[in-house]
Amino acid sequence: MTLAQLGAAVGAAQSRLSQVENGKREPKLSLITAVAAALGVQPGDLLDSSPPPGRRAALEIELDRAQRSPLFRSLGVPEVRAGRTLPVDALEALVALHREVARRHDAANATPEEARRANTEIRRLLRAADNHLPEIEEVAEDLVRAAGYTVGALTHRTVARAAAELGFSIIHVDDLPHSTRTVTDLANGRIYLPPASIPGGHGLRSLALQAIAHRVLGHERPTSYTDFLRQRLEINYFAACALMPRSAAVEFLAAAKAERDLAVEDFRDAFGVTHEAAAHRLTNLLTTHLGLPLHFLRAGDDGALYRGYENDGVPFVEDATGAVEGQPVCRQWTARRVLGLTNRTTENYQYTDTPAGTFWCSSQTGTTREGDFSITVGVRYEHAKFFRGRDTRARAVSRCPDVSCCRRAPQELAGRWAENAWPSARLHAQTLAPLPSGTFPGVDDVEVYEFLTAHAPGEHGGG
Ligand SMILES: [Zn+2]
Repeated sequence: MTLAQLGAAVGAAQSRLSQVENGKREPKLSLITAVAAALGVQPGDLLDSSPPPGRRAALEIELDRAQRSPLFRSLGVPEVRAGRTLPVDALEALVALHREVARRHDAANATPEEARRANTEIRRLLRAADNHLPEIEEVAEDLVRAAGYTVGALTHRTVARAAAELGFSIIHVDDLPHSTRTVTDLANGRIYLPPASIPGGHGLRSLALQAIAHRVLGHERPTSYTDFLRQRLEINYFAACALMPRSAAVEFLAAAKAERDLAVEDFRDAFGVTHEAAAHRLTNLLTTHLGLPLHFLRAGDDGALYRGYENDGVPFVEDATGAVEGQPVCRQWTARRVLGLTNRTTENYQYTDTPAGTFWCSSQTGTTREGDFSITVGVRYEHAKFFRGRDTRARAVSRCPDVSCCRRAPQELAGRWAENAWPSARLHAQTLAPLPSGTFPGVDDVEVYEFLTAHAPGEHGGG
């Protein structure tokens, strides 16, 4: 059972179970009784200080788990009962074979197409839930409130206190393995982060919270690419909930809605996060708590969509696998039209007529080393009245996905250039490139283990 499953069975937060499991909190008798009932054991069994299971027991558990996996079931091979009569060497061999089958399966699945399919599956699940995950909202808010959060932006100090509550210290290092964003040393209770390059940016708080989230949410080693993506999504979601806790955020947004003055920039500034983080957070809260369906997108200056969410019916372009990432954004949309603008002091507003109706959108642009980008939040025409910028006179008409809208060159231009143009295409750096498959998708195990060894307290060269 995962912590999430057990938590659901006994009606306790995962974070609480995790603290009990790690000896950081004493459980009440009622919780012990509930956990025992859920696991089908006697309460006394949980209190017994028996020695950890031996090698044989560990193998039996692993074999049992492997034989219950969908992958094994799909093979149609009969199960082997790991009874007393099965010799340990046979058990060892079976477990090793199961591991290899799983490894090969993962390797075969780590193709860009599978990654895109997994991503699409998760996006559809989220859309069905209006991008709102109440369990994570609660766990994250509980954690930051316990660490002293009251209102407004979450400070670095509160993040460090939250980590400490869970038994972790945050350590900044400049030699993190290239394939990682953070590394957590579970044995010594340390979270390694890159050094702060921009003092005060929310990036480091977010990274620390994401590292903490794996622990708080009871994540186990990902068993598939979908599992890996789901965990990635959950830690991002958790960090957003901690940086912009639900009760404080909803209170702020509800007041702005009542004033008919909703604006991403105000929300961003009140919580000390990036424009993108603030805009994306609205997708978690506005529909569930304020009754406003909406869309969000990040577009690059190559015209492609890098990140997108909608539950208001705005027509994103999808590829054959249903993915929206990497697909073109209509040139008439606010997200594209603002990319040429140089004045970035305020948001840019526009009404756009599309085949799916009229939408009001607000876009803000930014620059990274990879080029310019725009962040857009939009709603259907009838909901524009709650937002600052509703009185804009900017209007556009989009007929996409009809290719004659903006993706096929006008006849006059095509007639002049079709035979006389020879561009050489830039290789597209895709959003979801194939990943090397190790224990964790995309991560170089060797680098990580060497890094942890070098930094562990008491080790040679550590510190
Ligand atoms: Zn178009």
